[in-house]
Amino acid sequence: MELTADLHAHSVFAGGTQALKLTPEKYSENKKKAVNHLIKTNETMPLKGIDLIGTGDCQFTIWTEILKEVVIEDSPGIFYLEGNFNTRFILQTEIIFTLPVQKHSKIVHIVFLFPNFTTVDSFRDLLNRWGVKHEKMARPYVKCESKVQVSHRIFQILEIDPLIEFIPAHIMTPQGVFGSNIKLTRLSDFFGTASSRIKIVETGLSADPQFLGLIPELDNKTLISNSDAHSSALHRMGREFTVLNVSKITYSQIIKCLRNNKVDYTVEFPPEEGRFFLTGHRSGRKKPGLHDDSQYCYFSPQYVPKNDICPICHKSLTIGVFQRCMEISKAQGGQRNLNDINPKQKFIRMVPLIDILSKARNVKTKTAKSLIRDYQHINSIIGPESILWKMTLDEMEAKLSGQIDETILNALKHVKKGNFTFYPYGYDGKYGALKLGERGNFQDIKVIKSSTPLQQVLF
Ligand SMILES: [Zn+2]
Ligand SMILES: [Zn+2]
Repeated sequence: MELTADLHAHSVFAGGTQALKLTPEKYSENKKKAVNHLIKTNETMPLKGIDLIGTGDCQFTIWTEILKEVVIEDSPGIFYLEGNFNTRFILQTEIIFTLPVQKHSKIVHIVFLFPNFTTVDSFRDLLNRWGVKHEKMARPYVKCESKVQVSHRIFQILEIDPLIEFIPAHIMTPQGVFGSNIKLTRLSDFFGTASSRIKIVETGLSADPQFLGLIPELDNKTLISNSDAHSSALHRMGREFTVLNVSKITYSQIIKCLRNNKVDYTVEFPPEEGRFFLTGHRSGRKKPGLHDDSQYCYFSPQYVPKNDICPICHKSLTIGVFQRCMEISKAQGGQRNLNDINPKQKFIRMVPLIDILSKARNVKTKTAKSLIRDYQHINSIIGPESILWKMTLDEMEAKLSGQIDETILNALKHVKKGNFTFYPYGYDGKYGALKLGERGNFQDIKVIKSSTPLQQVLF
């Protein structure tokens, strides 16, 4: 049977909390917030057509304790929120491993899945033994000294139970194993011998099986997609997911499917909209003073200035996922061209319906009640959002014509016909902005907006 799964999400604790100093009052306040999030998730997932979602942060002590209190096990390793039977949960977390490389710290996010609470508790014991500060951080740092230590620790986790799985997360973004924060070429450059145990990788929002098809080392890996949602808002949750073909819905069946590449298809966020798609530079919270919002630049790989230098401020550009895919492809000896890639793994692209409604209605706040109403209305006619992207244009028109506002139908038709682009495309941590009624070519972009004279840069 078909099972739609979002195996990477976060709890309300992802932002960190003073868990150690919790008074009973604080505990019950936190519990209420956390359970409300689960209830909201339970309501939202059916709108997206998702059956199962990761709990996020499952080793975070306060969250583990709350989960133990409020979920019931439906089948081995699969949980429901008591009294709420729409959505199943699986025990999942994301941990940050770090490794010194070229005098810097390479940061790699890794998703872990657990078959039961006992294994989660053993994992936390292991974190304690390693001296990892995990009590105040739902997404803790495991600092390693060498590749040997990374692989040793990964194997130590896997030894807790053969059903524990680890999945390098959003592998092409700056915090992914192939991301730009420190450029590595092969999985073993970070994971050492544990790289041979990697069966599954997560595509991340800015890449999909087409882009990852550029990288020879990933040819035999299972590619999965997950939302990595930090909130239960409709435009965040379930924006990517994976459709599996399982014989029954148990944790071990899901793991077996993933390890043996029994993925029917993935549903992908448009890579061009992802926050790290193109290489570029802009102002941001973390780097004030370089240039303001009116000055920015972004480039397709062929136009990136030499040495990845920003022509406005002369600092390093943030290397996008597209460029990283090309670089690793070349470094691994792949003579591959994006246009020729024919991915083994099927996938569909899903421009988030909320984004389309926001554009059609000209309402910028994506959590606006009017947009949610429109979303739910469409949902009541066609069912979950993903159905929209499986329908043909004619089927969609037949279902929705006369039933929804003409402006919205026209916007949907534009997307269905491929008559859309992003302006700008996603770059340097900023999501791409949908533009309807125009086509674009993300392979041919060179944008520099600057009000001051440009510094000399070689292209
Ligand atoms: Zn992450
Ligand atoms: Zn700059």
